[in-house]
Amino acid sequence: MIAGEFELIDKIRRRVAVGEGVRIGIGDDCSVFEVPPGEELLTSTDLLLEGVHFRLDWTDFYRLGRKAVSVNVSDIAAMGGRPLCLYLGLGIPEKLEDSELDQFLDGFSAALSDYGASLAGGDTCRSAYGMTIAVTVQGLCTEGQAVCRSGAEPGDDLWVSGSLGDSALALKLLQAGQEPPASLAERHFNPEARSVLGKELGRERLATAMLDLSDGLVGDLRHLLRASGCGARIQLEQLPLSGDYRKSLNTDAERWNLALTGGEDYELLFAAHADSRAQLEGLAQRLMVPLTRIGVLTPDAGERTFLTNEGANFSPEMSGFDHFSSRGAVDD
Ligand code: ADP
Ligand code: MG
Repeated sequence: MIAGEFELIDKIRRRVAVGEGVRIGIGDDCSVFEVPPGEELLTSTDLLLEGVHFRLDWTDFYRLGRKAVSVNVSDIAAMGGRPLCLYLGLGIPEKLEDSELDQFLDGFSAALSDYGASLAGGDTCRSAYGMTIAVTVQGLCTEGQAVCRSGAEPGDDLWVSGSLGDSALALKLLQAGQEPPASLAERHFNPEARSVLGKELGRERLATAMLDLSDGLVGDLRHLLRASGCGARIQLEQLPLSGDYRKSLNTDAERWNLALTGGEDYELLFAAHADSRAQLEGLAQRLMVPLTRIGVLTPDAGERTFLTNEGANFSPEMSGFDHFSSRGAVDD
């Protein structure tokens, strides 16, 4: 059983370090921090719900704590910013053990220090249903330089970081009662936000438009194309797929389909001018983060073409996850 609300808040305050920038953190009615001159504040929020986003019988609390931070920091990276502080709203069910909450907070805290961010506040409540984790993140970027979804132009290259589909495949295997390879399971339970990459892409002004992949490439790409008024042609053989991912699926069609539609990659998808290629390759080497050019943006705003090397057209089967669609898919 969890102790009272105030003991719990006190415990959170003791367990989680407060970093720089936060003048007043946990303990007052609001947090206070200074936005340095010439910078702007970025804010985003994400919900993680037991039974919707995670199942307690599959996840461990340490990794859940990490994931709650990473998925939020990923949104700051996607705007080309750097994370500053997070707020943790917790709905705690009766069944949750003290030790489980401790593990969650340890994971949360470890991820915060990895990304150089602080916990600056939150809210704590008993939940009558499952565990609810509502995290808000704030970050900073240079004034006027947030990388939006709307800045891409026809002719820009389309790039993606890391590899696609690993997390979705892990989930698919778990749902089928199979044990996923460790590398894929790690991508699902403990995704890493591309925090340094996002910040550098913003700082060096290399990305003309960017977002992070949470709902699957096809669905998220659609957001970027709509906002930028472009179409896209994607080269399927260019999609970056990990070794374990390739090995676990038998056909190219299966591989492409899940890489295009599976969610929770938390990779960055961005557009960049063709004359930035050498600089981007240099950045990938310097940060040791794979960056792959997967296609090009076209002037036809309705175009979404997925091409094989032979020039055949491929139609992905499901375009992203939508909580409010009756069949769980998004239509174009
Ligand atoms: P109020 O009633 O004024 O909303 P609370 O009693 O809920 O304040 O919270 C007291 C302080 O503890 C606030 O600074 C709040 O931000 C912080 N806090 C509450 N819950 C959490 C949490 N889960 N994580 C971090 N800080 C928290
Ligand atoms: Mg409160």
